[in-house]
Amino acid sequence: MTRTTPPRPYDLLALFPELAAHARPAVRLHPRHGEPGVHDSSIGGPLLWPAEEPWPTCSLEHEDLNDEPYAYVLAWHDYLDDRDRRQKEGGLDWDVERRRADELEARFTAEDDGAPAPLIPLAQLYYRDVPHLPWADRYDLLQVLWCPRDHPETETPFNPAFQLRWRSAEQVGPVLADPPVPLVCSENYVPRQCVLHPETITEYPDALDLPADLAAAIRAWTERIGDSTAYNWDTAKAPGLKTTGYGGVWGIIDPYPILCECGERQLPLFTAATGEFDGGTTSWRPVEEAGTEWEFADPVKIVIGRGYTLQLYYCPASEDHPGRTEMF
Ligand SMILES: [Zn+2]
Ligand SMILES: [Zn+2]
Repeated sequence: MTRTTPPRPYDLLALFPELAAHARPAVRLHPRHGEPGVHDSSIGGPLLWPAEEPWPTCSLEHEDLNDEPYAYVLAWHDYLDDRDRRQKEGGLDWDVERRRADELEARFTAEDDGAPAPLIPLAQLYYRDVPHLPWADRYDLLQVLWCPRDHPETETPFNPAFQLRWRSAEQVGPVLADPPVPLVCSENYVPRQCVLHPETITEYPDALDLPADLAAAIRAWTERIGDSTAYNWDTAKAPGLKTTGYGGVWGIIDPYPILCECGERQLPLFTAATGEFDGGTTSWRPVEEAGTEWEFADPVKIVIGRGYTLQLYYCPASEDHPGRTEMF
């Protein structure tokens, strides 16, 4: 089933035709709970990973304050899904639920053994589903993995650490059946398994990242209509998990050019968001899900910082140049 972003409350191009030169395609992934296979695009699903290729691991330093046994987190997610189902079927006895939760937690113990920790799949993106990914002449599959723990020494500290694989799917022979899993993780960084319903939309730069005269005209317009969210939040940039485009609304710091070590300006590749929309961005709820209130507001349930967004960039000069990250 397709998911369609409702018409934006303002027609930006009619108001500011010069914005057209800054338009970029973004793909809203629209993740929804499901059972993806290795041949499907997914969030948190199984990867088309060559059996003979080593599974990636993380040797960076970890902050273990939020670590829990990975097996417990998976079991906890199953418990929560089951509890949701039972709640819909009838009331819950919360004393019983508390006891069940305690018993579940007590069944798992694990500690970091210091060995390089296996990463977990975050996204598998087939170009046939998710257009506008780079180097389509060479690749048709992008796999995004991350180490689901806090890293005090990465560029965006106290966040998960990404690794990417660009592939041509037809060159993958036998598929790794049983990838290794980490011993411990932060629950915030373990996505629920989702299938994708990608949709291409058009995004525009952050208002602070536009030429000064255009930025001033947009600022004057938002003041005139008395709606400070009209540009950045309502029209220029979509919330939620997505690829390419412009990514986040810079809420923590002002935008700045994300430069590669080679000097190129890096571009948004993958945006890991805390939820699909919130109270300020409900207008982005797909038309097919009108009236569902909060049901599809957060299918993936990863949490970045205090509800922020972590964006991964790529260098258009080469996929071998390390991608940078920024948090909004
Ligand atoms: Zn790590
Ligand atoms: Zn570069």
